[in-house]
Amino acid sequence: MLSPMPRPRSAADTTSSARGRALLAGPAHALVTGGAGFVGSHLVEELLRRGHRVHVVDDLSTGRLANLGAVAAHPALRVTVASLAEPCVAERVCAEADVVFHLAGVVGVRRLADDPLGVMQANQRSAENVFAAAAAAGAGVLFTSSSEVYGRGCVPFCEEDPVQPGVPEGPRGSYACAKAFAEWLAFGHAGRTGMPVVVARLFNTVGPRQVGDHGMVLPRFVAQAQRGEPLTVYGDGSQTRCFAHVVEVARALADLAEAPAAVGRVVNVGADAEVSVRALAELVRARAGSHSPIAAMPLAEVFPCGFDEVPRRAPSLKRLRAMIGWAPSRPLTAIVDELLANAAAPRTAAAAVVAD
Ligand code: UDP
Repeated sequence: MLSPMPRPRSAADTTSSARGRALLAGPAHALVTGGAGFVGSHLVEELLRRGHRVHVVDDLSTGRLANLGAVAAHPALRVTVASLAEPCVAERVCAEADVVFHLAGVVGVRRLADDPLGVMQANQRSAENVFAAAAAAGAGVLFTSSSEVYGRGCVPFCEEDPVQPGVPEGPRGSYACAKAFAEWLAFGHAGRTGMPVVVARLFNTVGPRQVGDHGMVLPRFVAQAQRGEPLTVYGDGSQTRCFAHVVEVARALADLAEAPAAVGRVVNVGADAEVSVRALAELVRARAGSHSPIAAMPLAEVFPCGFDEVPRRAPSLKRLRAMIGWAPSRPLTAIVDELLANAAAPRTAAAAVVAD
C-alpha cells in the first residue's frame, strides 16, 4: 500500500519550530557565497572577527580576490574559486557548513539592461543549487535578497508589502523576479525540511571596494568628480535612494544570523535617510571641491532598451530595529568623504589570497 506523502510544512510552521534557534549560536563553519564581492568581503571580515571559520566560494565574475586582501593570511579563512551554477559545486561547498550566507549573484543595472535573461538565469540557478545543498547538509541559510522586489511600491517599503517586480516587457523586473523567486524557494525548503532561513532585503549599499563599472551611482560620481568629468545624473535626478555603509550592513547581516527572532522572516536592511540623485551629485561635487558640471542624461539615452527607473526607494526599518536593535549611524557626508579620501590615496598592494 502506498503510504501518504508527508504534509509539507509551511514557512510559518518552520518559523515556530525553529524559533529560539538562531542561524549562528557559538563558533561555526560559515560559507559565504560571493564572499570576494563588495558586500561579501566585508561580511567575511565581520564573521572572522566574531570567531567563525569562513569558507568563501566565488566565481570571480564580479568579485575580486584583492577584496579579501586584509584577511588573506587569516588561518580561519578558506577560498574556493568555482561557479555555483554547478549543483555538484554547491553540494561540495555546503557539505561542511553550519550556516550559508548566500550573497553570490549578478548585480548592477548595466548588466541587467545588457543581459536580463543571463542575470535572471544565473541568480535563479545559484539559489536553487545552494538552497538544495544547504538543506541536504542540514545548514541554515541567510539569503541576501534585494529592495528591487518592491519595484515602484509606496515608500517606506515594508516587509508585509506585496512584491511587485514590474512588467515582463521591461528588463528591470528580471532581477527582481529572480530575487523574489529565490525568497519563495528558500521558504519552500524551510517548509519541507525545516531548514532555518533568514531573508535580508538589501537596500542601496555603498562603501570601500564598490566599483561603478556596472551602474552603482556613488563610486561613479566620486570617480567623475575626481577626474573633473561631468557627473552623469540620469533623468531629472529627482529619484531618491537611501545609502547605507557596507560595514554597517555586514554587521547587520551577522547580527541577523545571531538573532533567533529573524529565523523564518524577511527583513529590510539599509539606511532610511532619503536623498535625491541630484542632491547626491551636488554633495559629492562640493565635498570633492570639484568643478565638474552636473550633466542630466535622458534615461532613453542611457538605456536605449527601455530600462525603467524606480522613482523613490526607502525602507521601513521597524522590523530590523526590533530584531537586532540596529540603526544606521554613518551620515552620507562622512561616507562620501571616506570614498573621496580612499580614491585619492595611493594604492597599496593587497596581500595575496590562496584559493582552492
Ligand atoms: N544613476 C545616475 N547616474 C549614474 C548611475 C546611476 O544618476 O551614473 C542613478 C540611477 O538611475 C538610480 C540611482 O542613481 O536612480 C541609483 O543607481 P544605482 O545603479 O546605484 O542603484 P539602483 O538603486 O538603481 O539599483
